[in-house]
Amino acid sequence: MNEFDIIARFFAPLAGDGAFGLKDDVAVLPQRPGHDLIVTTDAISEGTDFFAFDPPGTVAQKALRVNLSDLAAKGAEPVGYLLNLSLPHSIREDWLAAFAAGLAADQKEFGIALLGGDTGATEGPLSIAVTAFGFVPSGKLVKRSGARVGDAVYVTGTIGDCGGGLAIFKRETHSLTDADRDYLTGRYRVPEPPVGFAKDLRDIAHASVDVSDGLIADLGHIASASGVRIVVEGEHVPLSTSLKSLWKGDAVARAATAGDDYQTAFTAPPGLSGPFTEIGKVMAGEGVALTMAGNEIVITKPGYRHF
Ligand code: ADP
Ligand code: MG
Repeated sequence: MNEFDIIARFFAPLAGDGAFGLKDDVAVLPQRPGHDLIVTTDAISEGTDFFAFDPPGTVAQKALRVNLSDLAAKGAEPVGYLLNLSLPHSIREDWLAAFAAGLAADQKEFGIALLGGDTGATEGPLSIAVTAFGFVPSGKLVKRSGARVGDAVYVTGTIGDCGGGLAIFKRETHSLTDADRDYLTGRYRVPEPPVGFAKDLRDIAHASVDVSDGLIADLGHIASASGVRIVVEGEHVPLSTSLKSLWKGDAVARAATAGDDYQTAFTAPPGLSGPFTEIGKVMAGEGVALTMAGNEIVITKPGYRHF
């Protein structure tokens, strides 16, 4: 198989409107009157963001979903993506077939299509870069910089599950049931960004961020962009029962700094209810603090860093 065979066989069936069946040099991006086109990119690589033994379909889903998470956090609806693959020479057809099936499943789930990409060989680890496009009504993008003193802090989903799954893959000792273990490792492999919530988010949020490096680290981006202080009340951080079984008394502090969540954290007026949990307050000042029963917990590492 050369790269043209790979493109024609595995990726052309996924091509959307404007992609010319992946048989031209470029694609035409669809436009939506009255909307801003939003773009984001994120790459994942073997050994850093996924394991060589992960099923290829879940690797595909993770590559897409880490990008859909950024769009969701900004209130954008996804429409399409570019796929840039650096493949080892030893790549097998059955790996590519399962990878493409994972893309197809998520294209259906999220209503998106493939618009183009690049396919090349590498001597290094397998790496997948996705560039995703989405729309928001003009001017309605939710930024990191809009938090106001007096806002509450909210987060979607549960926090720390993916970090827990990673800890299990890294052979941290535990006494979980098979169901708890499978839930956490499943979340590490296939994150669940709140894509459907984006349209409501943009109506209520003053500021928002994609939680990818760690809840505390990412809220730090809102705090610095908005010029405010954020206090997270640890007892309110939503944790799954599986994660509490894994990390017990350390669960909050570890979950809040673990990363890989791909949820949306945002600030908005206090007292709102919806598919999210109120976890803290926006105050005058700077930085992010995590408290338990009113006492600040010392955090040495607020989130994941590549370097
Ligand atoms: P170029 O010679 O400009 O690099 P390619 O031969 O790489 O072009 O690509 C041919 C077509 O196939 C283009 O439409 C490109 O967007 C598409 N394509 C290449 N690789 C991928 C991929 N991994 N996923 C989706 N489309 C791809
Ligand atoms: Mg190319």
